[in-house]
Amino acid sequence: MTEQRSPIWHPFTQHAISPDSIHVDRAAGAYLFARNIKNNVPKGERRIIDAISSWWVISHGHCHPHITRAVQEQAARLDQVIFAGFTHEPAENLANRLIDATGNAFDHIFFSDSGATSIEVALKMAIGYWSHIGKPRQKIIAFEDGYHGDTFGSMSTGGRAVYNKLYEPYLFEVEHIPVPIAGNEAIALERLETFLNDNKDNVAAFVFEPLLLGAGGMKIYSPDTLKTMVDMCRAHDVLLIADEVMTGFGRTGTMFACEQANFMPDIMCLSKGLTGGFLPMGATLCTDAIYKAFYHKDRAKMFFHSSSFMGNALSCAAANASLDIWDKEPVMQRIDEIAKSHAHAACNFSKRKDIVNIRQKGTMFALDVAMDKGSGYLSQVQPILYDLFLSRNILLRPLGNSVYILPPYCITQQDLDEIYDSINFALDRLEYERCKRTV
Ligand SMILES: *Cc1c(COP(=O)(O)O)cnc(C)c1O
Repeated sequence: MTEQRSPIWHPFTQHAISPDSIHVDRAAGAYLFARNIKNNVPKGERRIIDAISSWWVISHGHCHPHITRAVQEQAARLDQVIFAGFTHEPAENLANRLIDATGNAFDHIFFSDSGATSIEVALKMAIGYWSHIGKPRQKIIAFEDGYHGDTFGSMSTGGRAVYNKLYEPYLFEVEHIPVPIAGNEAIALERLETFLNDNKDNVAAFVFEPLLLGAGGMKIYSPDTLKTMVDMCRAHDVLLIADEVMTGFGRTGTMFACEQANFMPDIMCLSKGLTGGFLPMGATLCTDAIYKAFYHKDRAKMFFHSSSFMGNALSCAAANASLDIWDKEPVMQRIDEIAKSHAHAACNFSKRKDIVNIRQKGTMFALDVAMDKGSGYLSQVQPILYDLFLSRNILLRPLGNSVYILPPYCITQQDLDEIYDSINFALDRLEYERCKRTV
């Protein structure tokens, strides 16, 4: 009897060559508990360490009891209500707490339902701002290896890569400048300066992932360089849109990455860690100047954006509960300990000859497998590594030949050590296969 395959079309999955999806029944802390099926026979639970926070969303651990309880209680009181003309306590609370968490750098907040939507909202705010104040501007600047989501607006701002190539003719024009990784600073700054000078009074916004570019390959750049770029943009009145969808909520070692470069943008996008990863939600924070550009007796100037579930009461309750955990538990201390552990691991890994480009930023640790050829997202080693990690019950999902760790903050030292070990194990195995081929 052949088992019927699921009708589900999974994201970023080539079903023609991928094995069946791993079936997860429950999760707790840093662990996923999956069905363990051998020869069609259930063999109990398989515990997998979630070393990438389930695509970078889980902050404090899966099913944190405080968030679970808050959502349960909210679900019994108010589920969902239209957000035009109506509001509710969890949303009002959350709005104030988030603005507070940014040191009151923003005056207004627009809720939505994902990271990509928070970017769409930011772009529409920026373009609308310039138009409504009677000085329309056309150009958008972003990073070559940036990633801002998979809707058309966010794809347009993102770098051109294999995952949006098919749609390139449909994407709007964006000026992409190089990422100022170490050694590239001068080139990137020069490109920015030139474009700003050549397009005076016509650049609407600069969209960027501060300090750490995620999907573009876990690339890092310095706070000093970011600050220089910010100052250059400010000198030309260009609006700054910080995409903190991934970096926000402690990932880079501070609550928000922008803090390390001593500035706050005009618009900030949040999502992934916003609810502690418990429920989908996006938020776009902005300054009073932007809000005021839309504030008018003329109804045609209102902000024309909505999505059905914006401000969902359960998501707001989860986000408030996650912020409670930030207040009550030693979250920053956990983050510091993860960073220290990564630094130690970096030192050990640096002895290996088969890896290059070891890098770390806060809770993010990454290294590249040395390749003669074939790096990039579709690198041959990616599926091999992925399977080797899973054979050790570790969820690590390399970006091409870049292996990275981005754990939930509750992770223990023992689990971190197991993750580092699994990387050594996988690299040894690769080395062995390479060696076999050459003899
Ligand atoms: C994941 C991500 C997004 C998109 O968020 P979704 O919720 O997946 O739409 C946008 N920007 C950055 C930096 C991200 O890492």
